[in-house]
Amino acid sequence: MTAETRPRVAIVGAGPAGAFAAACLLRAHPEVEIDLFDRLPTPWGLLRGGVAPDHQEIKRLADAFDRQTLGQGCRFLGNVEVGADISHQELMRHFAAVVYATGAQADKSLAIPGEDLPGSWPATQFVAWYNGHPDYRRLEFDLSVKRAVVIGNGNVAADVTRMLTLSAEQLERTDVAEHALEALRRSQIEEVIVLGRRGPAQVAFTSAELRELGRIPGVELRVRTEEVELDPVSTRWLAEEGTFTARTNMQLLREFAAAPRRPDARRRIELRFLRSPVAIRGTDRVKAIDVRRNQILRTREGLIKARPLEETTETISCGLVLRSVGYRAVPLPDVPFDERYFVLPNERGRVLDRGGGIVPGVYAVGWIKRGPTGILGTNKRDAEETIGCLVEDLRTGALPSPPNPYPRQLDALLAKRTADVVTAEGWRAIDARETQHGHAEHRPRVKLTSREELLAAARGRG
Ligand code: NAP
Repeated sequence: MTAETRPRVAIVGAGPAGAFAAACLLRAHPEVEIDLFDRLPTPWGLLRGGVAPDHQEIKRLADAFDRQTLGQGCRFLGNVEVGADISHQELMRHFAAVVYATGAQADKSLAIPGEDLPGSWPATQFVAWYNGHPDYRRLEFDLSVKRAVVIGNGNVAADVTRMLTLSAEQLERTDVAEHALEALRRSQIEEVIVLGRRGPAQVAFTSAELRELGRIPGVELRVRTEEVELDPVSTRWLAEEGTFTARTNMQLLREFAAAPRRPDARRRIELRFLRSPVAIRGTDRVKAIDVRRNQILRTREGLIKARPLEETTETISCGLVLRSVGYRAVPLPDVPFDERYFVLPNERGRVLDRGGGIVPGVYAVGWIKRGPTGILGTNKRDAEETIGCLVEDLRTGALPSPPNPYPRQLDALLAKRTADVVTAEGWRAIDARETQHGHAEHRPRVKLTSREELLAAARGRG
């Protein structure tokens, strides 16, 4: 195959799903040329901007992504926003296939009064802020308050709870953004209450993350004995259908409930169950949250749901609320979108039009394909499915032939649209700058957090 006849594939979104897809495609079909787009000047998406800074062992996956993608000739085109700098139709004129790996960038809303009061934030914004995402660096979280409430008990809730309770010394060993480190050093937070709407058997934490909450040095984890006693529906559900994770979590929660009190603890976390927020109170900022008690029921479809018991039972005073109830994908211009499930409608990764027909050459992978579920590694299997379809379509000649198939044609178009495309070399320059700065301070890296700084570093300046 000559350079002229190699099929070219665009992957939009350089997060874990995009990186796994690129690596998988290069393994399956080494002749394919891949351009990996990202709207940020940096690759690896939530690995850089989502995974908590104290989980450095997971962040090391970036080295494997780099080796298996950029190291194999895949081009990185950072600081290019598909839908703004280049349209979907334009991509289709340059590539035989376009794989969307854009994730789920927005947060789900609770639709309760007071949700938008100052002091009430989507956890996703807190995460982006402490991870140095350029669009969120200017946010100001008031950490002068004594109590924070986290709504939801999934792994993002676990991450933000740890970040609010780790000590300055622990945070200093991570790559938490400098602005967040400064703010967290001065934090007055003494207690974080985590509210789960369902019972202890249905927490969304994975067991490693739950266990970790009980092992933060200097932090007491409280669980009320009466709240880990299971209702009959949950007892039966756990015995008959409970996953290994659910059973392990129950065991851990019972151990936490039985643990002795630690009055000397620096900070405290309390996990509460069967509690739903009904209103966030305050006039000019958050002062408290009203919660109602729930009971567990099994629906006719067999789902385990929380149903409100009549009364509002409790008002918890607090100055910060982090709503950690899941991410939500947003539509992409000119690409079909399923407004009910917030994904690109697809069949095993092949994107479908309104009538359910396959849109030739368009694919989805990761959260934009299946919704915001699963751990990082889930994206690997997911990518294998999508790329399997793409390779099959390549083999059977089902991909369209783009009128402008040469890289120079794309590069000429991009040069007209934006002066600052960040290439793999640019990213390596950013990476080197950040890690050098980090080593000087005995930290894994010190992140550059503004677009200006990132672009200057990519150009070898700044
Ligand atoms: P998640 O796991 O789906 O958890 C969302 C939580 O919000 C659940 O507890 C859910 O309760 C609750 N919730 C949803 N709507 C609610 C409402 N209206 N009122 C009250 N509570 C509500 O989502 P996530 O924590 O955002 O994480 C997203 C994905 O990323 C997950 O698959 C997670 O495992 C993964 N992740 C992994 C790691 C890691 O591996 N360390 C770290 C971060 C994220 P119900 O269960 O009752 O719906």
